[in-house]
Amino acid sequence: MAIYKNRIDLHMHTESSFDGHYPAELMCEAAVKNELATIAITDHFDVDFFEEHRLDSRQKSSYEDIISAKEKFSGKIKVLRGIEMGQPTYDLPLTEKSLARFEYDFVIGSIHNLRKTPDFCELDYQNLTQDEVYSLLEKYFEEELILAKWNGFDTFAHLTYPMRYIVQSGRFNTDLSRFDDVTDEIFKTLIANGKALEINTSGLRQPIGKTMPTENYVRRFRELGGEFLTLGSDAHFTEHVGAGIDEGYAIAESCGFEYVTYFENRKPVQVKIEK
Ligand SMILES: [Zn+2]
Ligand SMILES: [Zn+2]
Repeated sequence: MAIYKNRIDLHMHTESSFDGHYPAELMCEAAVKNELATIAITDHFDVDFFEEHRLDSRQKSSYEDIISAKEKFSGKIKVLRGIEMGQPTYDLPLTEKSLARFEYDFVIGSIHNLRKTPDFCELDYQNLTQDEVYSLLEKYFEEELILAKWNGFDTFAHLTYPMRYIVQSGRFNTDLSRFDDVTDEIFKTLIANGKALEINTSGLRQPIGKTMPTENYVRRFRELGGEFLTLGSDAHFTEHVGAGIDEGYAIAESCGFEYVTYFENRKPVQVKIEK
């Protein structure tokens, strides 16, 4: 049983993502079963992997599947037309052209890799030193600041993404507080532009065991004046739709948020946090 009412889950992938597995309809079915009121389907669009991921056709199939699922589930659950733009700042003309191709409700901005570098999930952590890890993280947060300043998204996803893999490697004891200046600047940029921060709950079911970002960042975002918060399971399987969302709500509440937010036609809609 869900603890919170009118729950949202605004981050999930279908078989139209290179790493997805299920059609949009089955993700929607799982969302209804898991007592969600609003979901966004947000297939990957990693601009710097346009050819490798065959994004021209995947983007089209994703959008078409979302539209037909949206119609099929109308009255049962609100299905938002989303997309996860990965590394959009690495090719802005392609990003802008691709976003203009369809009418999206909701755009996630995220970074999974440094420029011309594999995804953080593919790096060989066994051969890295702690200093090298810090240097990668420094570059990562610099790229995230550039992403925040670009501002062409609605929510800023998984702020601390590399930690998922750094912690998983079991080799490091990484303290992110040395990056507080840049993460503050990212938050101030999001806030000035009226953008949302995402609590990504996928880490709760992975070795890292925590949301991305963790509660201390959500609290800091609030302290600096953050108003919009989205929640996302980042499900790639039907069984993960809605996973960790109640924990995400509890974090939002404990950090002083009274609302979570979804986006429709790229505009924020506030949903009261209620048990
Ligand atoms: Zn992502
Ligand atoms: Zn994702």
